[in-house]
Amino acid sequence: MSDEFQPGRPIVLRGGTVLPMDTAKSVLTNTDVLVVGDTIEAIGPSLTVPDGTAEIDATGGIVMPGMIDTHRHMWQTAMRGYGADWTLTQYFVFYYLQHGKTFRPEDIYAGNLLSAIEALDAGVTTTVDWSHNNHTTQHADAAVDALEAVPGRFVFAYGNIQAGAWEWATTPEFRDFVSRRMGKKDMIGFQMAFDVTGDPAFPEKAAFEVARDLGASVTTHAGVWGATNDDGIRLMYENGFMTPGTVYVHAATLSDDSYQRIAATGGSVSVSTESEQSCGQGYPPTWALRKHNIPVSLSMDTSVWWSGDLFSAMRATLGADRSREHLEAHKVGDTVTHANLRADQVVEYATRGGAAALGLDHVGQLAPGKKADVVLIKNDNSPVMFPILNPYGHVAFQAQRGDVHTVVVDGKVVKHDGKLVGIDLGAAKAAIENTVEYLQGALGQEAWAAGMNPDVPETKVLDNPYTYTDYRSSSTHGN
Ligand SMILES: [Zn+2]
Repeated sequence: MSDEFQPGRPIVLRGGTVLPMDTAKSVLTNTDVLVVGDTIEAIGPSLTVPDGTAEIDATGGIVMPGMIDTHRHMWQTAMRGYGADWTLTQYFVFYYLQHGKTFRPEDIYAGNLLSAIEALDAGVTTTVDWSHNNHTTQHADAAVDALEAVPGRFVFAYGNIQAGAWEWATTPEFRDFVSRRMGKKDMIGFQMAFDVTGDPAFPEKAAFEVARDLGASVTTHAGVWGATNDDGIRLMYENGFMTPGTVYVHAATLSDDSYQRIAATGGSVSVSTESEQSCGQGYPPTWALRKHNIPVSLSMDTSVWWSGDLFSAMRATLGADRSREHLEAHKVGDTVTHANLRADQVVEYATRGGAAALGLDHVGQLAPGKKADVVLIKNDNSPVMFPILNPYGHVAFQAQRGDVHTVVVDGKVVKHDGKLVGIDLGAAKAAIENTVEYLQGALGQEAWAAGMNPDVPETKVLDNPYTYTDYRSSSTHGN
């Protein structure tokens, strides 16, 4: 690490446009943010700072809280982009039915390590690792080893798709893992991650009881077309397991009754808009959640399709919500003249919303006394970072991960001037190469290629009364 950002040295970000994400949705121009130790000490113009403070020029940039992703299957990151053309069907077949058990602890480690670095690089300072391939506790140990190796804030959400929640959650090995690894470091929180099938016998009850006993919140894929539905919500409600800390992931195909149960019990929804759009869980639900006043956080789900970058989540969420609002209006002959969902709201979903969902009061906002998880978006070489007229709109629609200039987590600079600081990306790449080579070998080239290239259904071209031009034929071009 360079001497510039030695641990313990105070840091000041000078002269940026600061979005503290307070309830007033303030925009503070030409403002400094002073970090001392792991805490935000002061926010204001021309701050007087302690001797020896490291100065970061934030002029021309936007300073905001570190972003928070409430649902990411980090272990899948070695297969980045592999499932670009998948639906949920290929995903389930590949991981749940066929190849999930192929993953070794070191493969979980590799995926988590690259994913954790990817998050920090993109300004995501807190990530929930929805770790649902822990078919042994050695896999979970490897997952947490990787999270501990990267200077970010994480929540380890323990799960295992290879067994029922009532099976793995009640084993002595799981209890032993929790007592060995969880609650030891304040940078790594703990949740339990499992889905509720809707079986009337409610076998998941045993897992919920373990969560309650451990004081752990539950995160659950709910309202996923063809997988989880209103029955699961009703069973959770009737058995008293819908609590304020519960995070409902997707919640895209639920009835008003289920949304009312979520709203009334203080839960929140983790919306993965890009995932819902491609996979088929249901329409991205913010347009429905607004009607029930259900709190929202954002998530990227998995790098098998997308990358761990909440700029694209914010953008996709605004687009999907507005698309639906226009579509619903057009259906009844109306015109939407004023968009309901606003840019500042998706920035809030990506920051404060995530903190609220995870019960982390000390992050998600910039204010004196909060933990110093801070992002500076600034790129003087980019024509897109100028002019900054509407900072919330700029974050949501103009900025991207390459514009993340500086990232501070818990008072430590982990990225500066567009480059990671004190993080060994080379080691993560080497681990990933090893995993990719192993998976290709274990599956065989044929299965590997078939998995990446699902069959394309036939498109039936409609009969056309006009003279038909085949746009795919090269003979139609240039003459
Ligand atoms: Zn998921």
